[in-house]
Amino acid sequence: MKEFELIQNIFQASVMANTQGRGDILLGIGDDCAQVQVPQGQSLVFSMDTLVEGRHFPFDADPVDIGYRAVATCVSDLAAMGAKPAFFTLGLTIPESDPQWLAGLAQGMAELAEPIGLALVGGDTTKGPLTITLQVHGYIEPELASLRSSAKVGDDIYVTGLLGNSAAAVPIVTGELQVTSERFDYFYERYWRPQHRLIGGMALKRVVHAMMDISDGLAQDIQHILKASCVGAQLDANLLPISPELIQWQPEAAVTFALTGGDDYELCFTAPKEQATEIALITQTLSLPCTKIGEVVAKGFTIQGYNGDITGWQHF
Ligand code: ADP
Ligand code: MG
Repeated sequence: MKEFELIQNIFQASVMANTQGRGDILLGIGDDCAQVQVPQGQSLVFSMDTLVEGRHFPFDADPVDIGYRAVATCVSDLAAMGAKPAFFTLGLTIPESDPQWLAGLAQGMAELAEPIGLALVGGDTTKGPLTITLQVHGYIEPELASLRSSAKVGDDIYVTGLLGNSAAAVPIVTGELQVTSERFDYFYERYWRPQHRLIGGMALKRVVHAMMDISDGLAQDIQHILKASCVGAQLDANLLPISPELIQWQPEAAVTFALTGGDDYELCFTAPKEQATEIALITQTLSLPCTKIGEVVAKGFTIQGYNGDITGWQHF
């Protein structure tokens, strides 16, 4: 058996590649193309993410962790649109074909992909420095996609979950920093297993104005909404949702991590004040932590109670 056939078999045999019983996927892995029937009344949204070893995740990491996180970072964009996960393709560049490593990667991907109904329908495999590219696809009613350009002056600004944990975790997951096992476990999990916000995104899409996911740091990412919507924002640093674990560990730096740290994959959205009760109801019903952190204003960007630098993750 050729090397790449072996790889194809590993992915084809995975639970996440099983498309039986799905009306939308007519053909999955194994032919020249995958074939999909988008459900009536729905539109297709898609998004691509690339993760490079040593840049987006540490060298010599556990392949199960890499697989899980690769899917988590990518589905975060579906959540931010309010879309329902449907299927994905996988561009894999690997230095060597190690079946055990690949089985681990597939296992980690399947751990997240299978329960959310995200099927693997194809991909491509080449030799080179470890790089993982995912294109995820989702379905959404055409008029309900939550865009970055829909924020309105007077909206409240919210974020889900906790901010800053993942960025603070970096020296722990790279092994640069030794910490207690309790602290290690908490931050390792926050970095490698970001909680997806798909259900929250789908439930909130009808009540929000603008929505996006935070991948490069809140202070930097929210400016994409402000620019696209031609508005400004006033945030309050004292309202930022920060874990007691992070505050206890790094009391001085916690707010900076929350504002500028990347890889949180939480949702940031704006909504009219009249929706506050509805948002509280939705998020409580889903047990989705959600915090109001500021307000959309006509122009400018200020963070009350914070004087530091707000530059987030720089891609170049
Ligand atoms: P082709 O040469 O026709 O592009 P390939 O031999 O590259 O086909 O792939 C054969 C099948 O295996 C295709 O269905 C392709 O989508 C799938 N495949 C290849 N690599 C991957 C991968 N990394 N993940 C998922 N499916 C893959
Ligand atoms: Mg072909």
